[in-house]
Amino acid sequence: MADPDPRTESGRFAEKCECKHCYFIKRILIPEMVHGRYFCEPGSREFVELDSVDDVEHLDRNSENAIRRVTARVKFSGVTCSFPLIIKLLEHSETAPSGPFLNEEMFYSKMTLNYGTDGVPKCYVSDLGRFDCQAVIVLEDLTASGYAQVDEKLDEDHLKLCMKALATFHGKGLKLKADQFPIFREFYAKLYEPIDWLHLNTSPGGVRTSKVAMRSSLDNPERSDASLDSVLPVEAILSEKIRAKQSTMTKLEFNDLWTVCHGNFTRSNLLFKYEDGCLSDVKIIDWSTMTYCSPSIDFGHVLLENLPDDNNLPEVETFCQKMLKIYLDAVEDEYSEVDRELLERDIIATLPFAYGMIDNRRKTGVMLHALDQLGSFD
Ligand SMILES: [Zn+2]
Repeated sequence: MADPDPRTESGRFAEKCECKHCYFIKRILIPEMVHGRYFCEPGSREFVELDSVDDVEHLDRNSENAIRRVTARVKFSGVTCSFPLIIKLLEHSETAPSGPFLNEEMFYSKMTLNYGTDGVPKCYVSDLGRFDCQAVIVLEDLTASGYAQVDEKLDEDHLKLCMKALATFHGKGLKLKADQFPIFREFYAKLYEPIDWLHLNTSPGGVRTSKVAMRSSLDNPERSDASLDSVLPVEAILSEKIRAKQSTMTKLEFNDLWTVCHGNFTRSNLLFKYEDGCLSDVKIIDWSTMTYCSPSIDFGHVLLENLPDDNNLPEVETFCQKMLKIYLDAVEDEYSEVDRELLERDIIATLPFAYGMIDNRRKTGVMLHALDQLGSFD
């Protein structure tokens, strides 16, 4: 529930904009949401009316979505409450929504009914046409309640919390797959798979979309040695192991442990909250990249990007094992019948594919050695 309106938060600067999206938000979407009681608690009967809508702020946009921040002020039986919102719209509203938007729309409108809403922002609307025939997703603005991104690499406490949140999501999916397969199938069958990235790519550049680069890394795994960013060179013996793995496994192979993954589980999509200076919660955002694959893809992505700054390989391995245990424990908490050993083996064997997804690789050598120590190239 929103806080009663202190009228002090409106200091955010937003230009008065009358672009079609801002016009739609102020004149159509929010008034209709108020009228449709979207801001009311379920079952409430109080009198509700729109007080005002702040000027809309344009946030980053990618080529596809227009993202706006706005605060709606709504009167409940005369008491005004403010609702800080993030609104996602199609940049070109005349075109049909494409895969990534549909993924996220499905996540908030359907999947949260089974997955729950704990680890994600509250969603007020996730709809493809009820409001003036526009596809729109309206979420709570978590930054207004103190959530924030971490700019630097995640430390151990942050990473532990992320691992638990991730394992909860994966565990719920695996349980749903086992217990209510028709529902689960409907989700994954509708996912838009953006690119054929499930290939083994251990070249240093992080070029998962480039088949040429992938081929060159297959032809020449020693290229890993050439990375200037690599703290530790990858010795011939490790190169040989990587090459051997690539000769037996070039594409991620389907198995029973595949589930719906976030697809871009990195710190840019994680918002943290602190209470009394202590880390207290994490929420996962941007579900447009969801994909059906090995849970290792999410696990490995966030793990490898946040390895400790330490060239002491046994310590890096201990760190990875600790995170894997936290992850597996939390999956088991959610889905007690999970075949833990099989999941562990699958995650370890599949980690090189997660490595292949990482865009900006620094410390390539440490990552590859960590994978090696975990047994990913065996
Ligand atoms: Zn505008």
